[in-house]
Amino acid sequence: MKKIKVSHKGRICKHPACKIFLSIYNHECYCYLHQDKLIIQDSIRGAAHLAKV
Ligand SMILES: [Zn+2]
Repeated sequence: MKKIKVSHKGRICKHPACKIFLSIYNHECYCYLHQDKLIIQDSIRGAAHLAKV
C-alpha cells in the first residue's frame, strides 16, 4: 500500500485577510494566491540586499 504525503485537513491560508482552505496536498502555509505575493516580496528583498553590497 502506497502512502501519499498529505498535510492536515482544514488548514486555512495564514494571510490575515484570507479564509481560503488549503488543499491537503498543499504543504505551504499560504494559498496559491498569497504564495505568489510572498515570492515577489522575497525577490524584492533579495534585490535590495544585492544593491546594498
Ligand atoms: Zn491566501
